[in-house]
Amino acid sequence: AFGIANCADKTPFQGVPGTKNERTFIAIKPDGTARGLIGEIIHRFERKGYKLVAIKILHPTKEQAEAHYADLSSKPFFNGLVKFFSSGAIVAMVWEGKGVIKGGRSLVGATDPAQSLPGSIRGDLCVEVGRNIVHGSDGPESAQHEIKLWFKENEFAEWNSIQPVYEN
Ligand code: ADP
Repeated sequence: AFGIANCADKTPFQGVPGTKNERTFIAIKPDGTARGLIGEIIHRFERKGYKLVAIKILHPTKEQAEAHYADLSSKPFFNGLVKFFSSGAIVAMVWEGKGVIKGGRSLVGATDPAQSLPGSIRGDLCVEVGRNIVHGSDGPESAQHEIKLWFKENEFAEWNSIQPVYEN
């Protein structure tokens, strides 16, 4: 049976991986924001059928950028990455839906835009690995960690989507 996606069931704000209430952290990086690609990127997640449950625009501090990319601190590009990520406004979002962590990575495309396929955000819209316009959590652990890093529980909206949800 098909039903209407229901928010009345209380989902923990970091989501439940492996269920229809899986959640992922997606950010439009400072280059995507500056290039006027906010609507373009949101559009792709929205029309796929994912549900936007939290969103804000902010200019990250250096400390926030370092915390977000902490697992890359030994990489030679880390300092440049942190400097860039904190150089302008980002759009921080949490998207929800079945398989949204992997599916979101698929919409985002491969890290290096030279490798990301046409049809993906990076494949269609950028050429530089250091300016690849969007971030998406790469797995269930990083999704939960990043959602908690950028959002508080009271920043989530409960609302009903009319996307059909297959109940089995
Ligand atoms: P992803 O963003 O696809 O999850 P990573 O977590 O490996 O990729 O890297 C985080 C970000 O660091 C990338 O999105 C990219 O902007 C930047 N980055 C990765 N590799 C390089 C590199 N070789 N040179 C410069 N920047 C890089």
